Amino acid sequence: MHEASIALSVLKTVTEECQQRGFTTIESVRLKIGKGSGVLPEALTFAFDIAKGNSIAKEARLDIDLIPLGGHCNNCGATFETEERFLLACPQCDDNNFTINQGYEMNIIDMEVN
Ligand SMILES: [Zn+2]
Repeated sequence: MHEASIALSVLKTVTEECQQRGFTTIESVRLKIGKGSGVLPEALTFAFDIAKGNSIAKEARLDIDLIPLGGHCNNCGATFETEERFLLACPQCDDNNFTINQGYEMNIIDMEVN
């Protein structure tokens, strides 16, 4: 399960960060996830809730910002964002010569600690 390994790696990162900074409780973790990354937010939240167990992140809430797929077309020059998870052609001109520059990311943006 893809989301389980992501949840574990997020947990490891925030736990180490929290300990290095001398805090003992993680209250929330904010993630930025691109819609094109293939990560399902509900599945990730579920996996995170299981993975955090009795760790210092056991009270942590996962906040997920979903980033739509977006880019620009090299044919017509349009800049676009789409709610689709995949894009096969430019929404403006239907050409497939386009560049995606957002929507594949998976980053930890922030966390609240105590
Ligand atoms: Zn186009």
